[in-house]
Amino acid sequence: MFILLLGAPGSGKGTQGRILAERLGLPKITTGDILRAAVKAATPLGREAQQYMDGGKLVPDTLILRLIDQELAKPEAAHGAVLDGFPRTAAQAELVDGTLARRGASLDHVVLLDVPEEELIRRMTGRAGQEGRSDDVPAAMKTRLQVYQRDTAPLVAHYAERGVVHRVPGTGVVDEIAAEIKRIIGR
Ligand code: ADP
Repeated sequence: MFILLLGAPGSGKGTQGRILAERLGLPKITTGDILRAAVKAATPLGREAQQYMDGGKLVPDTLILRLIDQELAKPEAAHGAVLDGFPRTAAQAELVDGTLARRGASLDHVVLLDVPEEELIRRMTGRAGQEGRSDDVPAAMKTRLQVYQRDTAPLVAHYAERGVVHRVPGTGVVDEIAAEIKRIIGR
């Protein structure tokens, strides 16, 4: 089973993805975490990606498509995964759709975490103090929200056409949101 968590920055994809992946025994693939690890380790990818991430911009598809390809090719993701943070552009969606289709699979569920913008900003601001993410600063937060609306939100319509999108209110108690996702997915 392949599940995509979609939502604006700060909507709780990481938290809900962790709960979901654990419950279903699926690997969680998180491009943001992979990129942050690459930055920390100063790999060629990390060195290229850092400037975009710090500015709240998307890392260009020329760099990301290969990363996605590698992650989906891992044996543990052969029969399912929770995708957190990608696909985020039309080109990424095309790659994911094509890769899964060649295995006779497709995204079974797209969970869209719906959180009002004021709450997103509140959460990112709070997280900045705790995690010290270099992109949880006002200018980059604003860019990330804009980039989400421009590049990623259109994917909702793309997947809605296939009838796999579930909109889940992402405000409230973490456990209740997780329970709602469980109810929607049916396991
Ligand atoms: P958030 O959704 O809260 O902004 P992420 O951890 O998903 O956090 O992403 C952080 C940054 O990493 C993004 O702003 C972007 O620069 C980069 N990034 C993560 N995933 C992708 C992706 N699929 N395509 C391009 N850039 C990405």
